[in-house]
Amino acid sequence: MIPFHRPSIGKDEIAAAVEVLSSDWLTTGPRAQEFENAFALRLGVGYALAVNSATAALHLALDAFGVGPGDDVVVPTLTFTACGEVVNYLGANVVLADVGEDGLLGPEQLAKAITPKTKVVMPVHYAGLGVDIDALRRVWDGPYLEDAAHALPATVNDHNVGTLGDAAAFSFYATKTMTTGGEGGMLVTNSPDIAKRARMMRLHGISSDAWNRYGAGGKWRYSVEEAGYKYNLTDLAAAIGLAQLKRLDELWAKRASIAARYDGAFRGKGIDRPIRREDQHSWHLYVIRVEPDIRDAVILNLATHGIGTSVHFIPLNLMPYYQRLGYSEGDFPVAERLYSESISLPIWPDMTEAQVTTVINAVLEAVH
Ligand SMILES: *Cc1c(COP(=O)(O)O)cnc(C)c1O
Repeated sequence: MIPFHRPSIGKDEIAAAVEVLSSDWLTTGPRAQEFENAFALRLGVGYALAVNSATAALHLALDAFGVGPGDDVVVPTLTFTACGEVVNYLGANVVLADVGEDGLLGPEQLAKAITPKTKVVMPVHYAGLGVDIDALRRVWDGPYLEDAAHALPATVNDHNVGTLGDAAAFSFYATKTMTTGGEGGMLVTNSPDIAKRARMMRLHGISSDAWNRYGAGGKWRYSVEEAGYKYNLTDLAAAIGLAQLKRLDELWAKRASIAARYDGAFRGKGIDRPIRREDQHSWHLYVIRVEPDIRDAVILNLATHGIGTSVHFIPLNLMPYYQRLGYSEGDFPVAERLYSESISLPIWPDMTEAQVTTVINAVLEAVH
């Protein structure tokens, strides 16, 4: 069996988890702060707030941008539903947009989606290829919230993804490029105002340092300023995240070498490979494209060889919830075609050369 994904958890991650479990502080505390500091340093960004998912980070960021009823938020249709649902949480309208051939929201697609009520645009760095947000700004110059769930560590024009927009959300879900033990996320921003609001809202709308109410000298007195959320990341998760963050480049290099092998093997074989640019791709996903009429059969064929695959994504406008908002099949021809052609292959750091070869041979056999 070659699963679609297997997280790379080494002895350092396990030791870090055991250390926290053996201590007397399990939830948000010193490890979470250390993780935030290390993450902010790594990205070169002013503020990093550890939360329990990227969905939480997206929600907190939209809240901090002041999104509410009557506002429009632009979301590419080729993404996970987290992007749209957080807009709904705040009572605002999801405005879906098509994507370009690279799977990304581009200036052309954005221009068609902008309305007088657009409050925030949420580009998705699909698969780990960075969106050029400077190019989008020439179309619309308001706040950009990067969905960077796929894109650690990726760059655009030598800038780290996560520092291109006004705020960004990273995911440490089990299948992403690093994990905090299954679930986790990070909100990053250079704005002190966004950081201040999100820090309060991620923990019940309580002002300042509420996590340390129980320590000696801890401040037992606190003030509830808003109806906030319960989005904090535990120290247990943060300790695992710190150990993974130290291995980020090592994990990336292994994925990049698998991508290079796939590229070489599929070249000239009637299989469309991911678009590459000068920028660093994070290689969260390696998405091949085949003729739509054979796509499902190829997936089944790979499954009979014990190879796990996935499809990213079924466009949001094909989903019942978004259809109740007024979207339908046919609204976004490029995203729908990319979806019908796409197969995401296994690309995880600990894949052996033999396993990569097995996937390559099975794909070539299934396609021809
Ligand atoms: C995984 C994912 C998310 C959500 O991440 P969670 O940490 O699971 O909340 C958001 N957007 C995209 C594009 C994703 O792939």
